[in-house]
Amino acid sequence: MTCYLDNNATTRVAPEVRDVMVPFFCDLYGNPSSMHSFGGEVSKFVARAREEVARFINAEPEEIIFTSCATESDNAAIRGAAEALGGKPKIVTTAVEHPAVLNPCRRLKALGHEVVEIPVDGLGRLDMDRFRSEVTAGSVVSVMWANNETGVVFPMDEIAAICRERGAVLHTDAVQVAGKLPVDVKKTPVDMLSMSGHKFHAPKGIGLLYLRRGAKFRPFMLGGHQERGLRAGTENVPYIMGLAKACELARVGMAAESARLSALRDRLEAGIVATCPDVRVNGDRDNRTPNTLNVSFEYIEGEAIAYRLSDLGICISTGSACASGSLDPSHVIRAMGVPFTAVHGSVRFSLSRYTTDDEIDYVLEKLPGVITGLRELSPFGPGRDVSTFS
Ligand code: PLP
Repeated sequence: MTCYLDNNATTRVAPEVRDVMVPFFCDLYGNPSSMHSFGGEVSKFVARAREEVARFINAEPEEIIFTSCATESDNAAIRGAAEALGGKPKIVTTAVEHPAVLNPCRRLKALGHEVVEIPVDGLGRLDMDRFRSEVTAGSVVSVMWANNETGVVFPMDEIAAICRERGAVLHTDAVQVAGKLPVDVKKTPVDMLSMSGHKFHAPKGIGLLYLRRGAKFRPFMLGGHQERGLRAGTENVPYIMGLAKACELARVGMAAESARLSALRDRLEAGIVATCPDVRVNGDRDNRTPNTLNVSFEYIEGEAIAYRLSDLGICISTGSACASGSLDPSHVIRAMGVPFTAVHGSVRFSLSRYTTDDEIDYVLEKLPGVITGLRELSPFGPGRDVSTFS
């Protein structure tokens, strides 16, 4: 049995999405920019896809730019806004962003921009007092809508209101809310927003950047006139069609699906807490995406848990990143000040539309034995010397 609970990393392509893509490989393969009707026909499909994607976030079609992934969207937004504003605008972001945001911000810091990373508290909630005090007129702000490791949702309405009031440009990485929580850019007036198709059942290799009409932006992908000159490069038509279908499926099914997912996730959480001692749930339990559960098992390594579960057909991810041979605890879990006996033992379960009750039962059947087995091997534990466990 394969039990796939790593949907914040990537999701299965929906069969409906695959089906709408197929004709655009070998039949409707014209270039939408071509003069002839063969290409013109394809450009009509792209226009309709753009309308569907815009509808998903209540934007206007001309405010949607198709990109290759959310990493591209994040980079384009942050660097594009900073360049358009001119000078060296201040950059305000958070300590728990995905590297697709943190690294472009750090590059700007190396180029002389002041860059502030707003901290979070023990539940992963943003320090809003600090945020309010750092956002100034003309700054570029990039704050994720929901965290990929913990699922904690940031108060985007309030963040957008502060940025509006101060005259700052706001970008949000909304990758982890796509298809899980409603996004309405008229109600929540962000200036720029990134999403990635493969996080909600479209394929890898397609993303979107929402760019509010009139938003300060300089494209960094220069070339042809595609995407109104804002992102050059021949449109990835099959993937654009797939993204649009994924948006439609998510829009139509979201309310029911989110309720089902949060019930499944809560059952998983309750089962783990009931059967595994010395476990802590990471993140604000009242304010999480419905599909995400991050837990720390004290005294053992997340990697060991993930490997053991993988042998049993269960796919999850750790809260740690294995960087250049050293096991660095996740910057997100560390930023939350999780105690050092638990920081290494954090793992993430992330569910999707395709997650079943049986899969949750299977995890709950297998996990306690894995945890007990690893703890028996661990030199650490309550009352044991943990001085070398850092
Ligand atoms: N932002 C967040 C919050 C993510 O979770 C991810 C993917 O893990 C990305 C950005 C990058 O997305 P992509 O794989 O489309 O570049």
